[in-house]
Amino acid sequence: MKVAQLVEYGSPLALRELADPAPEPDGVVLAVLASGICRSDWHAWHGDWGWLAGQIPLPRTLGHEIVGEVVAAGPEVRSVAVGSRVTVPFHLACGACAHCRSGHANLCDHMQALGMSRDGGYAEFVDIPNADFNCVPVPESVSSVAASAIGCRFMTAFHAISGQGRVRPGEWVAVHGAGGVGLSAVQIAAAAGASVIAIDLDPGKLALAEKQGASYTVDASETADVPAAVQELSDGGAHVSIDAVGSRTTVVNSVLSLRKGGRHVQIGLTSSEDAGQIALPIDVLTTRELSVIGSHGNPHSSYPQLLSLVDSGKLAPQDIVRQTVPLARAGQVLAEMSDFGTSGITVIDRF
Ligand SMILES: [Zn+2]
Ligand SMILES: [Zn+2]
Repeated sequence: MKVAQLVEYGSPLALRELADPAPEPDGVVLAVLASGICRSDWHAWHGDWGWLAGQIPLPRTLGHEIVGEVVAAGPEVRSVAVGSRVTVPFHLACGACAHCRSGHANLCDHMQALGMSRDGGYAEFVDIPNADFNCVPVPESVSSVAASAIGCRFMTAFHAISGQGRVRPGEWVAVHGAGGVGLSAVQIAAAAGASVIAIDLDPGKLALAEKQGASYTVDASETADVPAAVQELSDGGAHVSIDAVGSRTTVVNSVLSLRKGGRHVQIGLTSSEDAGQIALPIDVLTTRELSVIGSHGNPHSSYPQLLSLVDSGKLAPQDIVRQTVPLARAGQVLAEMSDFGTSGITVIDRF
């Protein structure tokens, strides 16, 4: 099978021919139909996260936002049929630990990160372990390209808004960063009945945020005090503020955008510049009774709710997809992400 592999941090991906994978006894093999190119892939390519779980081991086939058709299943697989079309949460889980059993499989003690700790979907085929737990059927009404982001960015935004952020109708939500996950958060928060303020440095991305339902936008490239702008637009601050970037500026701006009692939800992971350490205005946190909440992926158990909203058309991940590319262009797209040159979501759909 053809794969695009990371062989050296920051260098072009290598296009290679590898043996087709076979399923594990409890796993399946998917013929990959669509594979999103996520900023986490850029972080991995860049050699980030030595301060977290460690740089990813090389060589590695990236790709954790996939939709595929099941082409082979191990003898222990019960509920996933050959021929069905599925997506996979990027955080592959065991289904048996205390977190999985209490509905928090995104915190699994035995998590394997697709395309990070095992080979992923920048490939014609990918094998998925524990398929009965980790494969999620894609509704017929949703195209494979549209559904691929449900493996990471779209579902991450869904969990941040509806799960960790507990956004309620009528609340103000600020979204810092209007890339793929940020635009997803804008759309999902607007659909949840919130008034959304999107913040970015790029007017083009802010225009996309308006299309996804942002009531207001703040161009951070020409706004001296972003939190003050959000406070003014929302008449006292956001109830929930999402950092979809992971930089010192966006984290602090997000916290300071909140009204008293507000919730900051962190989605973006940091890059080498901050290396996982960002100072918070802690006295403001205390005196305004702010909450700082992490949000990672989306538990398997809330996929039915997410997919039913997508199936009914209330949520539209396809609206965030901006381009599709062949496998051979994946490395180039990663390089373009270095200066935030891409917009929305890019999906590999030709292998
Ligand atoms: Zn588990
Ligand atoms: Zn991702």
